[in-house]
Amino acid sequence: MQPASSRTRFLPGPRRTRYGLLAALVCSTLLVPAPLMAAGAAPTANPAAAAEVEADVFAPNLSHFTLTNGMEVVVIPDHRAPVVTHMVWYKVGSADEPEGQSGVAHFLEHLMFKGTTAHPDGEFSKTVAELGGEENAFTTTDYTAYFQRVAKEHLPLMMAFEADRMENLILTDEVVKPERDVVLEERRMRVDSEPSSRLREALTSILFVNHPYGSPVIGWQSEIEALNEDSAIAFYDRFYTPNNAVLVIAGDVEADEVKALAEETYGKVARRAEPGARVRPAEPPLAGERRISMADPRVTQETVSYSYLVPSDATGTDGEPEALELLAYILGGGPTSRLHKAGVLEQRIATAAGAYYQSGSLDMGQFGFYAAPTPGHDLDEMEKLIRAELARVLKDGVSEEEVAKATKSMIAEAVFAQDSQQALARIFGSALTTGKTVEDVQTWPQRMKKVTPEQVQAVARKYLSGDPVVGLLTRPKPEDTAAATAPEKQG
Ligand SMILES: [Zn+2]
Repeated sequence: MQPASSRTRFLPGPRRTRYGLLAALVCSTLLVPAPLMAAGAAPTANPAAAAEVEADVFAPNLSHFTLTNGMEVVVIPDHRAPVVTHMVWYKVGSADEPEGQSGVAHFLEHLMFKGTTAHPDGEFSKTVAELGGEENAFTTTDYTAYFQRVAKEHLPLMMAFEADRMENLILTDEVVKPERDVVLEERRMRVDSEPSSRLREALTSILFVNHPYGSPVIGWQSEIEALNEDSAIAFYDRFYTPNNAVLVIAGDVEADEVKALAEETYGKVARRAEPGARVRPAEPPLAGERRISMADPRVTQETVSYSYLVPSDATGTDGEPEALELLAYILGGGPTSRLHKAGVLEQRIATAAGAYYQSGSLDMGQFGFYAAPTPGHDLDEMEKLIRAELARVLKDGVSEEEVAKATKSMIAEAVFAQDSQQALARIFGSALTTGKTVEDVQTWPQRMKKVTPEQVQAVARKYLSGDPVVGLLTRPKPEDTAAATAPEKQG
């Protein structure tokens, strides 16, 4: 977990961890497609943490309550240092945007730093900097969050500032138009000039043809260009209301003092909208293979990716999300996984090969594979490698021993991750804004320990037997550089 430095507005799009609980840890990598996150990106289990694995409940000292205006509050005491992490999470993301206004959730996130009547001209950010604190904000498909990390004595001030901008944001043409240019530039930098990001965007749009997860969090360029003060304020008035927000405070505090402070600050913000149920269009089952191939001379490492739609932690039942987590870990979660062993260590045809389960969404999740060839090998071989390992698991399943080992490693990594105050705050904030409860997170180790090898094979057969959505990132062949950069839709 890297401490947030000055506010960098990154866009956590789809997550790329092997399992959901730790998803929040790698948000800053989000625009990097899975194939480029080589196997080395996997954290290794901490032996010291493994000893604590017996702990069956995460953050047992956590408190959770709701203010009278409907704002949820989570307090996680952590007295190792006199600092606090203060986060406000809104249950709104790009998948909640009105049609034709893709990017408005992220655009509003930028505009939230412009100021209020009481604190104009970016005074909040300046104060955080003067106090030696850190701040950040991020938008995903399902939530938008703002956070500061400061010395504990400054917590009341942070709460007062954040509560103020929940209801008193002031936007004028003067600030809106230049900020829209900032966002357009962000899109050019992060998406348009990155072949891997462009491919990921195109792939996501064919993976979700009806559900709004198919639109990029940052928005389509033409729709960002049409965003204005009115669209931003309408979105703000509809979703930035205390009954749609979750406050998470981790650090050198006790629940009682936070409760009193929260009542004095957030508790006074009027409930000004009823956002209602988050019902998004469903994704229909589609026949046939969908495949996008993109060639670009800037590509340094060719890669292939396979994606499948699967249940998420929030939509899955009967232990299926936990079984999918184990399946991803066994197949492709790091240096001991089947894909890494086969492709990188034994056959030596891949520089990286793995699998992941993106489980943290409010609606459906994704299961993916990726592989990148070593020089002299090609993407056909990478596809064969993935298909072979997938076929093996579909036919023969996984062993009791593999499940036991993977469960132990995953729980140890999760226990280790809790050492980071911010990581812990993010885990609970993201869970509560994506349809899960505090208890769901706390009892995750208990659920993981119940998964059987039969369940792992069953989810593989149920969800990974059909055609994947395939992405191929290549360098143009010398003879056809002219046709190089246009993404091509097929299927
Ligand atoms: Zn941004």
